[in-house]
Amino acid sequence: RRPARPRRDLVYPSGTVSCRYKHNPCIRIMQWNILAQALGEGKDGFIRCPLDALNWQERKYLILEEILTYRPDIVCLQEVDHYYDTFQPIMAGLGYHGSFLAKPWSPCLDVEQNNGPDGCAMFFRRSRFSPHGLAHLRLSAMMLPTNQVAIVQTLKCRVTGRQLCVAVTHLKARSGWERLRSAQGADLLQSLHNLTSSNAGPAAVPLVVCGDFNAEPSEDVYRRFSSSALGLNSAYKLLSSDGQTEPAYTTWKIRPSGESCSTLDYIWYSRDALSVDCLLDIPTEEQIGPDRLPSYHYPSDHLSLLCDFSFKEEPHRLM
Ligand code: NDP
Ligand code: CA
Repeated sequence: RRPARPRRDLVYPSGTVSCRYKHNPCIRIMQWNILAQALGEGKDGFIRCPLDALNWQERKYLILEEILTYRPDIVCLQEVDHYYDTFQPIMAGLGYHGSFLAKPWSPCLDVEQNNGPDGCAMFFRRSRFSPHGLAHLRLSAMMLPTNQVAIVQTLKCRVTGRQLCVAVTHLKARSGWERLRSAQGADLLQSLHNLTSSNAGPAAVPLVVCGDFNAEPSEDVYRRFSSSALGLNSAYKLLSSDGQTEPAYTTWKIRPSGESCSTLDYIWYSRDALSVDCLLDIPTEEQIGPDRLPSYHYPSDHLSLLCDFSFKEEPHRLM
């Protein structure tokens, strides 16, 4: 028998106050690269992952179990190549509204017996939000269209009446492509600025950007996001004791080329408009195990990220 799946705790960073107000309940958001089925079986070369741990008929339940365990209000996914036959119908039955944007030239299509292109998907709970505008973006770099996409969904919270803009993206992978990632990030920031600014000034609508940026915190695209005029902060820094350090890894895998343990996934949020109430802890090295990811316990090579946000009180409401 396999040992039980390690539990992940919700961590309340010091200095933050948990969802206290009935009139301002927190918004739970999940970010997760779920590993495209075609890539996991046909391209990735995860040599320490047992083949049957990648069997879609079982793996899909582990992915859904993870989503259902935490019941996020908003789910942002990358590498979705089973949207129409799996996630869309199941999530719709659970009360979520979904949207999907395929990569123009998905590498899944190179794999024999693929299930269609992979792309980004976003779901939001219908009972919590009403949709207020959706943008499907193909990211550009130096004016040229690229193979990477983003979904930007503006929502209105039915409880607070406040708007929230949520984006999901998956930037170009692999080393050697740092400048392309940086340019894609610049293009996304520009689009987000255009979509969220109004007469009330820039970034009038609070913003959450979830993504597999395929970039360590040392990369240019990370610097661009942390220093942009949109006033974004990376939520998972708040797990660290100094509040300034990203987790040591969000993905950990072993390929023929070697072991790769890196921080590539982020949840960015408007630091002036939103506060982070809690975050889902990152599993330890022991919990992940010597064969790393994916595994029987963890269906993707990337870990899910999850956090609870609440709207900061507007200044005039504090009076
Ligand atoms: P990326 O380089 O962004 O990577 C695609 C996927 O490969 C990602 O999901 C990534 O996962 C994964 N990956 C990263 N590193 C490795 C690795 N070392 N080994 C195996 N997989 C890895 O892909 P692009 O969007 O640039 O697309 C490239 C593919 O698209 C090519 O295979 C090509 O066939 C096709 N293409 C075709 C074109 C055409 O004209 N027909 C044009 C452009 C592309 P993660 O994000 O988790 O790291
Ligand atoms: Ca991948």
